[in-house]
Amino acid sequence: MKQQRSQFRAIRGVRDILPPESALWNRVEQTAHHVFATYDFQEIRLPIFEETELFARSVGSDTDIVSKEMYTFQDPLDLDQLVKAYAEGGPNPYKKAFGREGLKAALWEVMPEFQWLTLRPEATASVVRAYIEHSMHTLPGDVKLYYMGPMFRRERPQKGRYRQFYQIGAEVLGQSDSPAIDAEVIEMLMAYLDRLGLSGATLYVNSIGCKECRPEYVAKLREELLKVKDQLGADSQRRIETNPLRVLDSKLEHEQAIIERLPRISDHLCAACREHFAELQAQLKLRSIEYKINWRLVRGLDYYTRTTFEITAPGLGSQNAICGGGRYDGLVELLGGPPTKGIGFAIGTDRLVLALQEAGKGESASHIDVFVAWLGRAESPVYAAAVKLTRQLREEGFVVELPPEEMKLKKSLGLADKLGARYALIIGEDEIASGSFVLKRLADSEQRKLSESELLNYLKSDENRKVAAAQRQS
Ligand code: AMP
Repeated sequence: MKQQRSQFRAIRGVRDILPPESALWNRVEQTAHHVFATYDFQEIRLPIFEETELFARSVGSDTDIVSKEMYTFQDPLDLDQLVKAYAEGGPNPYKKAFGREGLKAALWEVMPEFQWLTLRPEATASVVRAYIEHSMHTLPGDVKLYYMGPMFRRERPQKGRYRQFYQIGAEVLGQSDSPAIDAEVIEMLMAYLDRLGLSGATLYVNSIGCKECRPEYVAKLREELLKVKDQLGADSQRRIETNPLRVLDSKLEHEQAIIERLPRISDHLCAACREHFAELQAQLKLRSIEYKINWRLVRGLDYYTRTTFEITAPGLGSQNAICGGGRYDGLVELLGGPPTKGIGFAIGTDRLVLALQEAGKGESASHIDVFVAWLGRAESPVYAAAVKLTRQLREEGFVVELPPEEMKLKKSLGLADKLGARYALIIGEDEIASGSFVLKRLADSEQRKLSESELLNYLKSDENRKVAAAQRQS
């Protein structure tokens, strides 16, 4: 028999986000809420799992995601077992009416579409599903939504690539495909990265044409790829048939020179797509957004049209893409909705956090403002005064640590120091009697005696100085 394990560990490819890093995650998410709101985007909260078919149809069944990376399960997990439990669970009307096989058939009858569920590998499909389900096309103006949360893909784990990872994404759905929308979405993204203090990010843009001009380009690409088939790796060889555009994504060293010689989509865009791409670039310039054109930036799915973009950040090694996005004018229709234009992006939050840490913008300052070193027994008036004062300070927004049990002063100050607190507030019987407290700044041991109101004022003015200094630095 297998020995029982005495400990558990997080499974491969998933991880805990611990403090103090979680403070950085909060900052990243809060900043997204703030910045996106200024562009009039509203948050949509989506389910973590959906019908498998939704992703199969939208992401595409010949993508890596759908063909091998999805966490899919049957619900109920084991129909036979469910039927057995039901049948053995005592007298019930269904048992009599259907019998075992009849019951099974009846269950299939009522819930066939709920049988296969998938932990979402991305969220655009869910946004579009919700857009259609709630008839959002009837809302005035463009529908501008953003989301954040975990996604699941069974990829080979490495730095910056996980099986449970997080995305912050935004989508615009509506009737217009104006390049100004694309440019504003990109502007919002860059403003967001800027607000976070991320420097050195590079924006790449491309146009992959539309259903008028792309098929012709894809046919040409396939023709050229067939000529060099023998020199390509197995994946690319397979993609010549399934999805030649994806060959352009290849990172294989020996394929790079071959790919550089392949026909480029920019030479095959129809007039309307060429104009759209030129206007996008003009709109980016108007907004002083720097970009580079990367003709190999493709999204190998049929419903993607025209604009594609990607952002990379330094210091992340091979997994350096922190955001991918593009226009998907065909998706709403593909999922059964009315003709609708759409554009969106997804930022990989894990990688964004890594990039901020690499850029030295990941520090979160010591979070304890005041450590309350109280001296006396728990039933003494000292403790009661400490509890009251602690609550007052917290109401003013200070982070306060109040030890639950009595400690000797030396031990208390030692702990305050180890926790990185900025101040220790000493409260003993003498302080209660005199109505003034000792506030000790731990960085330089400077001490001052302050009454309750002086204490609050002093901490507040000190807080103002700290904020001003931080603003000067950034
Ligand atoms: P995609 O949905 O594939 O366009 O990915 C958008 C962004 O999500 C990428 O640029 C990455 O930053 C991030 N991402 C995708 N897959 C993973 C993963 N397995 N682990 C961490 N981040 C990921």
